[in-house]
Amino acid sequence: MSTPPRIAVVGAGPAGLTAAYELARTGAHVEVHEAGPAVGGLSRTLELWNQRVDLGPHRFHSQDARIQALWSEVLGDDWGQVRAHPGIFREEHILDYPLRLTDVVRKEGLLESGRCVLSFVREQARPRPEVRTFEDWLVRHFGPRVYARFFRDYNEKFFGVPLRELDAALAGPASKDASLVTTVLNAVRTQWDNARAGAVKEVTQDFAYPAHGTGMVYERMAEGVRARGGRVHLDSRVEALEVQGQRVTGLRTPLGTLPYDYVVSSAPLAPLVAQLPELPGNVREHLRRARDVLTFRSNVLVYLEVQSTELFPYSWLEMHTRSVRVGRITNFRNWVPQLHGEEASSILCLEYWCSHEEPLWSWPDAELVALAKRELAATGLDRGAPVGRGHVMRLPRCFPVYRPGYQDVLRPLREYLGGFERLGNIGRGGQFAYNSQDANWRMGLEAADQARAALGW
Ligand SMILES: Cc1cc2nc3c(=O)[nH]c(=O)nc-3n(C[C@H](O)[C@H](O)[C@H](O)COP(=O)(O)OP(=O)(O)OC[C@H]3O[C@@H](n4cnc5c(N)ncnc54)[C@H](O)[C@@H]3O)c2cc1C
Repeated sequence: MSTPPRIAVVGAGPAGLTAAYELARTGAHVEVHEAGPAVGGLSRTLELWNQRVDLGPHRFHSQDARIQALWSEVLGDDWGQVRAHPGIFREEHILDYPLRLTDVVRKEGLLESGRCVLSFVREQARPRPEVRTFEDWLVRHFGPRVYARFFRDYNEKFFGVPLRELDAALAGPASKDASLVTTVLNAVRTQWDNARAGAVKEVTQDFAYPAHGTGMVYERMAEGVRARGGRVHLDSRVEALEVQGQRVTGLRTPLGTLPYDYVVSSAPLAPLVAQLPELPGNVREHLRRARDVLTFRSNVLVYLEVQSTELFPYSWLEMHTRSVRVGRITNFRNWVPQLHGEEASSILCLEYWCSHEEPLWSWPDAELVALAKRELAATGLDRGAPVGRGHVMRLPRCFPVYRPGYQDVLRPLREYLGGFERLGNIGRGGQFAYNSQDANWRMGLEAADQARAALGW
């Protein structure tokens, strides 16, 4: 091609913007269509009460040289390695995470720790014959007692169904070596490393974090696209792909029907397929099944402003207790100082995971803020400090739920979409993948490579 190709990207989240940035960087004319009023998708950063906050805790990890190079190019010096200090909140105490052996034994007790080890050994001696569900996987790798004490309640809050109704694939490829043995070894190693570093009390996990919040990297990518002559259309929800035969030729958008040489989409998979013309019967059948099988959890985030700067030292707490409904509490005061600036308050983010069918999803904001205030007081984490303003964000369908057999529906839908030329299908929603930012960057980069190859440019 002699003139630069016109390429559209659907969605300005991590996947879409990585593709758009890479394509613009290599000379394409790029137009991004984003349904929402801001860039960053689930990884955006908000301005709130003169501070900056993310949509729950967002860490960035990658060992991939291409991703690391892109990160440095986009952010320059405006990022750092941040020390996370997560914790596990239980009724009786808070455990450091990653676990430290002495912390666990001291707080859980020698007897209970011994029972957990015994239950693990019994499971290894007579393992369950088949590991089909997420519950099977956890019990097989950690033993029934650790499963019941540390995994069941928190994860059932998260997924909203018993873990025996979820596919073992949820454990993910990175967890193939996980077990009680490696957890204990890691707990010993963490303690040993910290002791050698002279920081016995401090358990840390470092990750890369932009100076002004996770979303900063996506704001920069969008600027990069614009600086190279591209466009980022906000409030522009793509209604349908335009196709001729098996080739994608453009998009139907609020700005009209626009012709493109290639489309990279990070929009959710099933609705994207559903609006294609002349769907074969088997695809229609898979779409019908997708409604029951490719399901999501949603997230209601309630931000509270607490008039104290010294609430608790953790970056976030996983709430392993049934006494409150909140699943996780993030304290943005403990991330980087640029987030809170000169403000003398802490913003906490309380996450309530639910489905759209649950009444909580539609509660009025005032009721959600009242619930969050009540629950924060019940945990004692407010330390009696005054709790002022509240703000609610709803993230619809943000966590894909891997139900057993979901691949049988997902695969044919992906294959059907894969049969169209001049189309890249990426992202958390596009691939129905319970994944993190770096995986979406990888998909964005590969989609850009494929677009270039397909257009011969
Ligand atoms: C609470 C929470 C905590 C998380 N913590 C971490 C973490 O610690 N580390 C980490 O790496 N990841 C984390 N993640 C995951 C991370 O946020 C996602 O993996 C990432 O944002 C997905 O990128 P994406 O571009 O695929 O999708 P999204 O971020 O969902 O972006 C997709 C974009 O496409 C737009 N869109 C959809 N349909 C259309 C359409 N038809 N037309 C136009 N635009 C459309 C949407 O509005 C959205 O902006 C977390 C997620 C959540 C919800």
